[in-house]
This record gives sequence, structure tokens and C-alpha cells, in this order.
Amino acid sequence: MTVPIRLDRYRTPCGHWSDAADRHCGRTPTRHYPVGHRCQAHTPSALAGEPEPGTRPARPRAGPTPGE
Ligand SMILES: [Zn+2]
Repeated sequence: MTVPIRLDRYRTPCGHWSDAADRHCGRTPTRHYPVGHRCQAHTPSALAGEPEPGTRPARPRAGPTPGE
């Protein structure tokens, strides 16, 4: 039995509002974030000028390790 993969969720248009264009972005594909569906250019991290979570190198831990 094959489980159908739902790709519809990626086809939901980007809901980012552009004041300059006076309309929603509307691009696809998108991913769903707490603020709504966003294309790659309008993710919360992209708008904040930060790398996407999980793409930045791990930082060394600050302070002593518990139990040492
Ligand atoms: Zn967008």
C-alpha cells in the first residue's frame, strides 16, 4: 500500500505583505510558520537577516558542563 504524499501544503502562496507592491508575495513553494505560509525569501529568519535554524555551525558551550 502506498501512502499519498500531500504536496498541497507547499503550493499555498506566500502570505508576506509587501507595502511597496501593495499586495501579498504569493510565491510558491512555501513552508508553514507560526506567522503563516512563507516562501524562502520571506521566512521569519530571512526577514530578520539570520540564517535558517539548523544551518549555522554549532557554537562551543559557554560555562562549565553540569556535573563537572
Ligand atoms: Zn514571499
